[in-house]
Amino acid sequence: MKTSMGCLFCDFITGKRKTHVNGFPFQTLWQTKYSISFLCINLPLHEDAHIIVTPKKHIEKFEDVRNDIAQDFIHHAQNCETA
Ligand SMILES: [Zn+2]
Repeated sequence: MKTSMGCLFCDFITGKRKTHVNGFPFQTLWQTKYSISFLCINLPLHEDAHIIVTPKKHIEKFEDVRNDIAQDFIHHAQNCETA
């Protein structure tokens, strides 16, 4: 079993952590069966933000990603801006 210890995204998904390292909250944008996207504002003075799309279940190595999860993830990333 893969470990997720020390993974910021897993900590947010499980509710262990509610904010980014700078104290700004993660904001969930969209969820699918296997993936979740967050709006992350982590630069000083709220000058910029970015969207992170990540699998809901921690995956240590890229080669361990199942095809159905990869397809879900790609569809999610492609549609983030319109979600
Ligand atoms: Zn993780």
